[in-house]
Amino acid sequence: MTQVPFVDLSANYRAIAAEIDEAMSQVLSHCDFVLGRAVSAFEKDFAAFVNTQHAIGVATGLDALRLSLMALGIGPGDEVVLPANTFIATALAVSEVGARPVLVDCDCDTFNLDPAQLDRATTSRTKALIAVHLTGQAADMDAILEVARRRGLPVIEDACQAHGATYKGRPCGSLGSLGCFSFYPGKNLGAYGDGGLITTNDAFLAEHLRCLRNYGQKVKYAHVLKGVNSRLDTLQAAVLGVKLKHLPAWNAARQQHAAKYRELLQGCGDITFQTSSTYSSHVYHLFVIRTAHRDGLQAHLNARGVQTGVHYPSPIHLQQAYQDLGYRQGDFPRAERLAAEMLSLPMYPELEDKQIAHVIESAQEFFARENPPIVDGSPHARAPGSS
Ligand SMILES: *Cc1c(COP(=O)(O)O)cnc(C)c1O
Repeated sequence: MTQVPFVDLSANYRAIAAEIDEAMSQVLSHCDFVLGRAVSAFEKDFAAFVNTQHAIGVATGLDALRLSLMALGIGPGDEVVLPANTFIATALAVSEVGARPVLVDCDCDTFNLDPAQLDRATTSRTKALIAVHLTGQAADMDAILEVARRRGLPVIEDACQAHGATYKGRPCGSLGSLGCFSFYPGKNLGAYGDGGLITTNDAFLAEHLRCLRNYGQKVKYAHVLKGVNSRLDTLQAAVLGVKLKHLPAWNAARQQHAAKYRELLQGCGDITFQTSSTYSSHVYHLFVIRTAHRDGLQAHLNARGVQTGVHYPSPIHLQQAYQDLGYRQGDFPRAERLAAEMLSLPMYPELEDKQIAHVIESAQEFFARENPPIVDGSPHARAPGSS
């Protein structure tokens, strides 16, 4: 039976092994393992890629967010607004600096933060907005930036799923005050371990971040800030420098796979797709479908050798770790509904046509065999008693 992994990192490595091995052995011969030359070279290349003046490599995507908040001087007593429908890291960064995450619901079609909810969530304590470009599609930045301008707030872009995505032709990570990227191995641009980076056009913030990530020192042992140790590893930067050159082609391959999924899954059971916004080029970090029969379909695909994921099974406000925020079930109905209906299909550049065909046939088989009822006549109505 055809096996379709959710991502295939070894296929990716095989295709570029010679280049990677060469770049790594360069670092080994220089032995500049911490903030070495591959780090500054990659920062320069990535800044050019995102079209910002500065790029600062850090240890993880979570740290990119955390250090961005620190650089903006956000801390205890402050509030930061972010979407309920995101990966936990977006909220954790806010908690880590001692501020309070304030959540807003998403748009059901694009899955991204609904800008219409922002005004209600913003108070005199709000110090920043975090826009997440979820699944690889830009959030509605003009609307978000308009609220931010009116309220005098900086916008941090969580672009951890959006390497190479654009909003009205401009790269994600260049639209707000600060752009945060993760190089977790499974991301569109992934290291061989952890990595992260912050982009900005603000020279003052850039300088501050370089200092913060390296023990708060500008000159060795002269500590001007209470900084942290969060540096992009030189070996990882060397890997990322090689992979960045391939990223446009890899993103294009993801887009082709997505187009195939969309075309061939059209009309399959009650499956619907994330709406492609007119303003964003989607780089498909994830390919997400919606169905009221999510759990059944997932089990069936798994039995047919197709690995899928749910991103994410619980919105932030229903996570145990965030019970202290005092939110309840029902507070963000759209995020809750998406969490029950979303399913991420296998997506990576090396995905083969026969694997895509197998995913599609297996899904068609599920809906034909099980003939699951369309509940309520509405495609996404929930079965009674389901939770
Ligand atoms: C991956 C991710 C992060 C965190 O990145 P790490 O490198 O794992 O710390 C933050 N936000 C979003 C939306 C992500 O997908």
